[in-house]
Amino acid sequence: MIIVVKNSCEPSQFENLMEWIKDLGLDVHVSRGVHTTILGLVGDTSKVDIDLISSLDMVDQVQRVQEPYKNANRKFHPEDTVVEVGDVKIGGLNFQVIAGPCSVETEEQIIEVAKAVKASGATMLRGGAFKPRTSPYAFQGLKGKGIQLLLKAKAETGLPIVSELLSVTDLDLFADVDVIQIGARNMQNFELLKEVGKTGKPILLKRGLANTLQELLMSAEYIMAEGNSEVILCERGIRTFETMTRNTLDLSAIPALKDKSHLPVIIDPSHATGVSRYVEPMSLAAIGAGADGLIIEVHNNPQKAWCDGAQSLNPTQFDTLMGKVRKMLPIVGKI
Ligand code: PEP
Ligand code: MN
Repeated sequence: MIIVVKNSCEPSQFENLMEWIKDLGLDVHVSRGVHTTILGLVGDTSKVDIDLISSLDMVDQVQRVQEPYKNANRKFHPEDTVVEVGDVKIGGLNFQVIAGPCSVETEEQIIEVAKAVKASGATMLRGGAFKPRTSPYAFQGLKGKGIQLLLKAKAETGLPIVSELLSVTDLDLFADVDVIQIGARNMQNFELLKEVGKTGKPILLKRGLANTLQELLMSAEYIMAEGNSEVILCERGIRTFETMTRNTLDLSAIPALKDKSHLPVIIDPSHATGVSRYVEPMSLAAIGAGADGLIIEVHNNPQKAWCDGAQSLNPTQFDTLMGKVRKMLPIVGKI
């Protein structure tokens, strides 16, 4: 439920209303605008007497929110959320590119890629240390050692790091990781979502292979219900009948998510297409559709990559793409 309060009301009236709502056992999300303040009520709102609240002079309108996601709902928070990772802002007018290898392999590899993507304009470094692989016999990631190597690359370049957490038991290893990624396969691992919600760190939440946008927003809600509103949504392609691409990039997810939610939305054209040649066109299309950023796999030697080489750009290809990204951003009003 949403209560729109006129800013002209007395502060004491406002406080009384807030206390009354809290006494009903509800949480209140406050979003202040120029003329009105939006109170988003979370919890069992069936006991709230809408007629009584509507009759108050200070109240402009009261609205029931049909959607099951509340904190993630744009109705609760009309302005775009800007997630801050150190000095890097994502969301609103701010567009960012996260780049790096699928998985961290060696110190030389991650540092070389980190320097290259930074020189081309990426503002965050990605790299998997814990890898969710379809086969138990495939490379599973360097785990704790991989995180240490990412931290070295961060120390060398100053780039904040993004890495995927697969299990709560490894959370301690992520203390210095700037953004925790929850991958497609774990989008509905609700216990993991609750735990990362408690960290207060920015969370990059990827859409599951066969999940609806509403389910993605409900997963964001799990994180936000723990008090963590630093959530970045990521569309990374969904499973369809198509086989010519690894997945099918759902570009309409961008306007739909941005319509329903205030959270930043980024696109992963690497996992969406699975083909390095398709990464550039889909990146540019994502910018055209209003994305707030991209996460792109870049490897210093894609032919030799331990994981996802076919979809990885080499540093030269990434540099070319970044030149085009920079040309497109002013057209869509992003910085
Ligand atoms: C990844 O980003 O390395 C990854 C495994 O992505 P996804 O969860 O989207 O498959
Ligand atoms: Mn990958």
